[in-house]
Amino acid sequence: MPRRKLIAGNWKMNTTRAEAVTLAKAVAAGVGASPACDVAVIPPFPWLVPVADALAGTAVALGAQDVYSETKGAFTGEVSPGMLLEVGCKYTLVGHSERRHVIGETDAATNQKVHAALEAGLHVILCIGETLAERERNLQERVFQRQVYAACAGLTDEQFARLIFAYEPVWAIGTGKVATPELAQEAHKNIRARMGMLYGDNIAAALPILYGGSLTGESAPGLFAQPDIDGGLVGGASLKADAFLKIVAAA
Ligand code: PGA
Repeated sequence: MPRRKLIAGNWKMNTTRAEAVTLAKAVAAGVGASPACDVAVIPPFPWLVPVADALAGTAVALGAQDVYSETKGAFTGEVSPGMLLEVGCKYTLVGHSERRHVIGETDAATNQKVHAALEAGLHVILCIGETLAERERNLQERVFQRQVYAACAGLTDEQFARLIFAYEPVWAIGTGKVATPELAQEAHKNIRARMGMLYGDNIAAALPILYGGSLTGESAPGLFAQPDIDGGLVGGASLKADAFLKIVAAA
């Protein structure tokens, strides 16, 4: 079965409440009732509820930027998978490079979050990717191996059906330096092959792998034409409806 593409807009720590609602409505209006790919927006936590209201009855799904690995209790500042589901989230990001490299999230924490989110019924967009220093030393495949192996440890076959990867080379995020289609395809193919070795060809073949990092309407068509690239995780360009919709149109 061909993999359906997903375009997800990661708004990061941007937008006011009013801007978030306006942006969500503009995206939903532009996407229409039956888009050719899946589309999601991922606002900051406080805007999940108003954005969920703005998206009600539309084809655009809601996602969260992070999740915690416990269901409830004394975890000040954290948000549980059940809470995200209750406000209408379908997706959550896990292991975004800003969580890993700015906040200091470990591979082990990523694994716990993946488990908790999938068990609750969320779809997880798991982010992986090498830093510039790792790419310069040609270590990217070792990084994929480590991040993929750690994040997926202990998952059941049924849980893999709700797992999505996002390959986001850290050197491409927010820098304007988008990966070439050839470089990205090579990385995606490598990640898929690794998943095949670890979990079998069926799981690897069904796994959507998004590209992320300075994606625009200009770079999207070349990237999305690659056989192992199944859509995009969009940062900067997701903050303007027309720029985001151009990427959706390319999928
Ligand atoms: P960018 O961010 O498109 O602004 O590079 C992508 C991401 O971090 O998800």
